[in-house]
Amino acid sequence: MRILVANDDGIYSPGIAALAEVATKFGEVRVVAPDVERSSAGHSITAMRPLSYRRTPIGNYEAYRVDGTPADCVALGIFNWEKVDVVLSGINLGSNLGNSIWHSGTLAAAKQATLLGLRGIALSSTVTIDEPNFDLLKPSLEEVLTLLLTENKDYCLVNVNFPDEKPKGLRWTRQSVRHYDGKIATGEDPFGRKHFWFNVVPVEETEEGTDRWAVEQGYVSLTPLRLDLTNEKELTAALVRYPLG
Ligand code: MN
Repeated sequence: MRILVANDDGIYSPGIAALAEVATKFGEVRVVAPDVERSSAGHSITAMRPLSYRRTPIGNYEAYRVDGTPADCVALGIFNWEKVDVVLSGINLGSNLGNSIWHSGTLAAAKQATLLGLRGIALSSTVTIDEPNFDLLKPSLEEVLTLLLTENKDYCLVNVNFPDEKPKGLRWTRQSVRHYDGKIATGEDPFGRKHFWFNVVPVEETEEGTDRWAVEQGYVSLTPLRLDLTNEKELTAALVRYPLG
């Protein structure tokens, strides 16, 4: 199995090293990742300038750094390596839960794989104060990859999140959509000019069965996602109420 590993934290992140190490147990691994951190880049692509693709071996892995976005890395990685089977993205230093996945570069890398007809798995870990303890997560990561790479190949896109402690187990979840944790804090720079910080504040309420809930309870959350954003309920109602044409 050919496994392309990408991320949005950049090629030198400890998270991508941990993911590449465990992925080698499942197949041939190649790392293609941004040369600098591109967190919150979402699914942007670089269309107005050319991109570079430079070999940067890390440890025992064949690796390449790209001066572009996470989605660029996956597109280039697949273009430059024939017959990729699956794209793994992460492990992100920070969770990608609920509505925050709209901004996520980690998930975008997995989505790019799905857009190109391949399976994509995004993997993120909760960060509190310290860097995640990847050694603690590795057994659960191996369990997740066994499930998604060898036992269940029916999905196309899965969003996986790890808790910040030793996981109690794995849970299938749905995306929490009730809350949005994007807040803007205002401040002043040293010269008295007003500036703005996007901030992420903890969400207090979670619904059982959602990604947020599972991670809060100490489980690894696995959410199967789809690219079709059509609101079927509203489409059906619109066709009845306002038949066009
Ligand atoms: Mn990131």
